[in-house]
Amino acid sequence: MATSDVLTELSKKALKDGIIGGVITLKRTAPDAAVHALITDMEMLEDVDSMIPYFPDNCANFIKRITKVAPPNKPILAILKPCEMRAVVELVKLVQIQNKNIIYATFDCYGTIARKDLKDKEIPKSQEFIKSVSDGKFELREICKSCDYIRSETADISYLTFEKDTLIVAQTETGKNFLEKLEVQFVESAPDKGLKSVLDIKLKAKTALYENLKSECSGTDNIFKTFAHCINCHNCMTNCPVCICKECFFESDAMDFEGDVFLDLASRKGGLRAPTDVMLFHIGRMAHMATSCVACGACEEACPEDIIVGQIFKWISENVQSIFEYKSGRDWEEELPLKTFREEELEPK
Ligand code: SF4
Ligand code: SF4
Ligand code: SF4
Repeated sequence: MATSDVLTELSKKALKDGIIGGVITLKRTAPDAAVHALITDMEMLEDVDSMIPYFPDNCANFIKRITKVAPPNKPILAILKPCEMRAVVELVKLVQIQNKNIIYATFDCYGTIARKDLKDKEIPKSQEFIKSVSDGKFELREICKSCDYIRSETADISYLTFEKDTLIVAQTETGKNFLEKLEVQFVESAPDKGLKSVLDIKLKAKTALYENLKSECSGTDNIFKTFAHCINCHNCMTNCPVCICKECFFESDAMDFEGDVFLDLASRKGGLRAPTDVMLFHIGRMAHMATSCVACGACEEACPEDIIVGQIFKWISENVQSIFEYKSGRDWEEELPLKTFREEELEPK
């Protein structure tokens, strides 16, 4: 059976047996496009390839939407990439997802191809992609090349494609019950030989990326240069799963001033650029969500100006999170840094 078909077949069987009410998965809408969809009709699952290397958005946003008013009464199976699962965990902690009746399935993720690179081409099938990705046949998103969270341990079920004998792992009681009902073979602990060798390559790429960002983007002049083309459209914010303020300060009346205030602001430096609050917006957003950024790059994919905003947020957020010995979304129990106070933390060494 083809690699991704395992997850699709599992979804079909669960739907047919009435164990779940629907499946959230990627579904192609054109040869070069796919969206996340909640599917309840078996026939609509026929051509589904849930592991295609495509990233339309972070699916945690969809789960947030589905559970916002009330979680479903019948379970939904959600097939997610590890960075999406990370966002789900973070959003549950931030009380943005009502975590009931969603069964989470993830898979070992080799990465995805940037949407702009796929324009008018065909998204490769997951089986073809997995076979050739290590030969460098496909150019991955920068954020995926250097991703250090390519297997999730928080989902109910994990599908291990990095290991020699591809395996399904039940990681929670929910996952175990689900797989038992389906009479699917599974293991309860994951081997990591294959994971380690893929991770090794990703970590080297991450070190190189951070060195490059340090030399190209550090300091006021460089950061202004990095965001020089920003049109302040806020797409990065709208698409970020963990940017959750109900009303954004930067879109509120608080940013409206009398003409004299603008004159005053302009006179401080001899001129005022429009849009007026570009860097303030990025720095403010960073301050709000650096402890929760999951390095998914949804912001960068949504940027019309090709600004490397996801790489910058990933780099800075990892630094901020490491101060608190925290990694967003890696663990259900780890407390959010800004909701926790420890007397001894942040003491000068
Ligand atoms: S950021 Fe990581 S988990 Fe997300 S798509 Fe890329 S490689 Fe996969
Ligand atoms: S800032 Fe960008 S990389 Fe970080 S969580 Fe939001 S969308 Fe993902
Ligand atoms: S999406 Fe790009 S252009 Fe729009 S505000 Fe964000 S960084 Fe600027």
